[in-house]
Amino acid sequence: MKIAFFSSEVFPFAKTGGLADIAGALPKELGKTAEDVKIIMPWYKDIEPESCGEQFGRSCITDNVEVIFIKHKEYFFRDHLYNTEKGDYSDNTERFSFFCRRSLQLLKELKFSPDILHCNDWQTAFVPVYIKTLFRGDEFFKKSKTVLTIHNLAFQGYFDKDDFKALEIKRHFKAIFLIYSRFNTLKAGIITADCITTVSPTYSKEIQNKEHGCGLGHILRKYSFKLSGVLNAIDYEVWNPEKDKVIYKNYSAGSLKFKNSNKFELKKQIGLISQKKKIMFGMVTRLTEQKGMDVLCKALPALLDKFEFVILGKGQPYYHNLLLKLQDKYPDSLKVCLRFDEKMAHHIYAGSDVLVIPSRFEPCGLSQLIGFKYGTIPLVYPTGGLKDTVKDFSASEEEGTGFTMGNYSADSLIQAIFRVSEIYDDRAKWMSLQKKVMGYDYSWRRSALKYVKLYKEQDRV
Ligand code: ADP
Repeated sequence: MKIAFFSSEVFPFAKTGGLADIAGALPKELGKTAEDVKIIMPWYKDIEPESCGEQFGRSCITDNVEVIFIKHKEYFFRDHLYNTEKGDYSDNTERFSFFCRRSLQLLKELKFSPDILHCNDWQTAFVPVYIKTLFRGDEFFKKSKTVLTIHNLAFQGYFDKDDFKALEIKRHFKAIFLIYSRFNTLKAGIITADCITTVSPTYSKEIQNKEHGCGLGHILRKYSFKLSGVLNAIDYEVWNPEKDKVIYKNYSAGSLKFKNSNKFELKKQIGLISQKKKIMFGMVTRLTEQKGMDVLCKALPALLDKFEFVILGKGQPYYHNLLLKLQDKYPDSLKVCLRFDEKMAHHIYAGSDVLVIPSRFEPCGLSQLIGFKYGTIPLVYPTGGLKDTVKDFSASEEEGTGFTMGNYSADSLIQAIFRVSEIYDDRAKWMSLQKKVMGYDYSWRRSALKYVKLYKEQDRV
């Protein structure tokens, strides 16, 4: 089966969040199951020739998968992928509709006629639109089916009517984009794609309701016959404490004492000097409301006398300032690192005892899956993929895989953290929980097989 996989970010070439992890890992896994896969992404300024080895040019091969870069200096050689501190780039529609058009043309030039065009989020949602408009009736794409994966419904690619001409499609197709008197790329993608997926089963249901539908709930309900959820996974080549080249000391479920060495070194690195044996709570996240920053910042003052927190993240300036103020007030128990730092993320996953993930909504969430592998127990608000993967240990030790907040509030987070500390003090219980979650298999193998099944189903439609 020939698969073209479109993504605006792919690890290790460009990453702002989980989409890059998935686009880096899923095609690689599909390649292993003998599918013929090509990844297509923009060539950004920061992509170094070295990341691609010798063959850098228009494409490179990594793990048997060809990555094709679409080059357009004016559109993609910028300091950021989508936005600056001031907001989104105003020509995002022009940039990404160009990317999608050019990618499809290139597939023709390469004579790579795909069975499946797998698109991700609004940036590549122009692909199914083009297949049904610009390339309609084109023999080359006659048997191609489109799959659109929604990684986060909150981002939909709204644009103004003046930008419609940048799409280079006929005016009578305007209606598929229009909603609430504005143009919405994701809505058009949902309508035109042959199949829609989200990144966890629970999220695929949540987005059909008003609360999580971000204005598209009714559209998703209408198209629910082609909507399903496939849980994300993680790349154990990148996230594995036994082989991780970044962390201080490798460890496994059988050598958990070496996890403590990572905690000790992490504390040294960030300047947490307390000798007392305190629980270390870690976070690696975007600092936004979605990720529960409002609840966290409210809860922290009630926690920092007793517990230690390290927070790595970038996001809304409001939360940067709030966290810095809290750090000034509690310098011995809170460290915030306001940046994107892949290496530091590894140190936090390995060195923390607990990962705090109080997301208001979470399509899948990768941190809790990484946490499992590193024996770093997740504490979450049970929504989306967090609900699918984290069951409360205090409610059922047998089924428990972490800890959950009862509701979305600072009080609930505080209560959950105190529940964690009771269990943490029972070392035997804690270690058996660590060992259990470290044994889970959230590798891409299983999820990739589910995608292959979906692809094959499209073939039959
Ligand atoms: P989202 O895609 O919504 O940001 P996910 O949990 O799906 O959230 O994926 C986040 C990914 O980005 C994880 O791999 C996480 O480790 C990483 N990440 C988030 N913030 C940072 C940061 N400041 N530095 C390094 N890695 C980060």
